[in-house]
Amino acid sequence: MEKKSCETGQTFPYKKKINEPVNKTKSQQEEEIMAEPFYIDYDECIACGTCAEICPDCFKFDDSMAHAEVTGFDCPKDLVQEAMDNCPVTCIYWGEEP
Ligand code: SF4
Repeated sequence: MEKKSCETGQTFPYKKKINEPVNKTKSQQEEEIMAEPFYIDYDECIACGTCAEICPDCFKFDDSMAHAEVTGFDCPKDLVQEAMDNCPVTCIYWGEEP
């Protein structure tokens, strides 16, 4: 016997998955996952190097530097977000540098 959803009457299991990918061109998919502009607030940066360890393609840091630097935006958005989430002083922000 089939179970039915109370609200929609749709039978289980649903034939269409909720997050089923929609047909998109490769460039549209790349556009979605690549990072948007972001910046580091140099006054807040404590020069720990975590961001560069997580995402070396977009962040640069070595011991001679007083703060990390953004070297580009050509990296996955998830990786930049991970760097932001792991920055101990949360000084990496999405957007254009003010
Ligand atoms: S993780 Fe944050 S504090 Fe550490 S170097 Fe990068 S921007 Fe600076």
